[in-house]
Amino acid sequence: MKISCYAAPAKGAPLEPFEYESRELGPGDVEVRITHSGICHSDIHLIDNDWGISKYPLVPGHEIVGVVTRTGPEVRRLKVGDRAGIGWQSGSCRKCEMCATANENLCDHSTATCVNGFGGYATSIIMHSHFAIRIPDALASENAAPLLCGGITVYTPLRAFDVRPEMRVGVIGIGGLGHIGIQFLRAYGCEVTAFSTSPDKETEAKSLGAHHFVPTSQPGALASVAGQYHFILSTVSADLPWPSYIAALRPKGRLCIVGVPNSDLKIPAFPLIGGQKSISGSPIGSPLMIREMLDFAARNGIKAKTESMPMHRVNEALAHVRANKARYRMVLTN
Ligand SMILES: [Zn+2]
Ligand SMILES: [Zn+2]
Repeated sequence: MKISCYAAPAKGAPLEPFEYESRELGPGDVEVRITHSGICHSDIHLIDNDWGISKYPLVPGHEIVGVVTRTGPEVRRLKVGDRAGIGWQSGSCRKCEMCATANENLCDHSTATCVNGFGGYATSIIMHSHFAIRIPDALASENAAPLLCGGITVYTPLRAFDVRPEMRVGVIGIGGLGHIGIQFLRAYGCEVTAFSTSPDKETEAKSLGAHHFVPTSQPGALASVAGQYHFILSTVSADLPWPSYIAALRPKGRLCIVGVPNSDLKIPAFPLIGGQKSISGSPIGSPLMIREMLDFAARNGIKAKTESMPMHRVNEALAHVRANKARYRMVLTN
């Protein structure tokens, strides 16, 4: 079957209409007619080959929501007509310890939707059903699409690092990831502080559920919250005053990084040793975790704030994201 899509023909190039012959539907595969496809910053990194893993023509798109149109004979969890979501991961070995313990996102043989195949800026996609997740009825497709990558990226660390309702937590950055992270942590029951260099984001942060706001560009603002937090999630792609954030942690506190800073981290060892503090990273989440995250979002009214454009305006939409103008996630629609 021919699939129509938009592809970058070369590094950094504008996307062009493109067509490819998809694989046959395998016994465990589903075919999904794509209705919504989010634009993640990783799509732009892939178009630009910032990570050296891109292959051209490259069809971006790994925040996909659509309707199942065909299922292979072994598919059990999805049926024709269901809404399904597909994220960054398209496959794993399904045999290793990580795969056997529902940590497929940590499998060494993980494949990525738009690196090892053609992604979601397309009319449809064939995907193994293990990596296509049913979307709960309470979630609108447009708001759900960004949860498939942006949402799971901020949800997984809460579960992986045992964040609990009584904790005081911080979210650095109120953008594509941070605005979802604040909502999850608030719904978890935590006392949530938003950190931002933009003082004018206080109202927005509080409307998303933050109890407190720290304008980090103001002198002394970070020092004034030293020793407060059990857990701080950094969602920004920038070099931050890391020692000040380590100081903001309570003893045994953890700083978790899900945004990629420009430079390697330079951290003094003594505050980590003396306060038994940790620094961690976290990638996406397993299919099981994505299901849980979507259920949690549906139950708690959590949604990505989105702007949408029809798929054929993809280059305009990408420019909007590149200019950091999307509030907060851009979604392409078919
Ligand atoms: Zn992504
Ligand atoms: Zn594996």
